[in-house]
Amino acid sequence: DQAQPEPLPATGSVVGVDMGIANFLADSNGEFVPNPRHGAKASAKLEAAQQALSRCKRGSKRRRKAVDTVARLHRKVRRQRLDHAHKTALDLVREHDFVAHEDLKIRNMNRAPAPKPDPNQPGSFLPNGASAKAGLNRSIADAGWGVFLAILAAKAEGAGRQVMAVDPRNTSRTCPECRHVSAENRPTQEKFHCVSCDHTAHADTVGAINVLRAGLVRRDATPA
Ligand SMILES: [Zn+2]
Repeated sequence: DQAQPEPLPATGSVVGVDMGIANFLADSNGEFVPNPRHGAKASAKLEAAQQALSRCKRGSKRRRKAVDTVARLHRKVRRQRLDHAHKTALDLVREHDFVAHEDLKIRNMNRAPAPKPDPNQPGSFLPNGASAKAGLNRSIADAGWGVFLAILAAKAEGAGRQVMAVDPRNTSRTCPECRHVSAENRPTQEKFHCVSCDHTAHADTVGAINVLRAGLVRRDATPA
């Protein structure tokens, strides 16, 4: 419910963003918006409070107190996430005329549940608990990005900016220099290294550059 920006003067700047877990987002200029640390701290406190609540006897005074604590921490986490989303969206809308981002719906449809390799035993995979936890983290992050994109769309509309969702397929495995597409271009989560032209960069920056390109193609193909 924060104030929406008034229409802003054109900046001549366009940007693509890649939403991630390690960083909340990376942009096509090589900048990163980290996930808020205070958010993780508050989440850990909330988890501890929920465990404490589960140990309290029904109808007890302690239980009522524990319920209040959980509710208070819940509000705090929610407020911090919202503040962070508002601030991140406002910065983007102030600085750029056009923002391209991945279409979360398409991204979720294409996401295969990836088994987690066990780092201590090459060739084997961690027990289900680990991947369930990763899946949970993933779905919490998805919810955060959904809220962020809704806030971004509202602010962009108020400011007269354009926001465009693009198909995220291959955005993380296409070389921004030579356009070579290969899963091998991404040896690790963070690293992009083109097997064809040797171009090296942060993988999330590469993703954001490709998202911007796809967004501009879509924008130019869409009649105004
Ligand atoms: Zn290349």
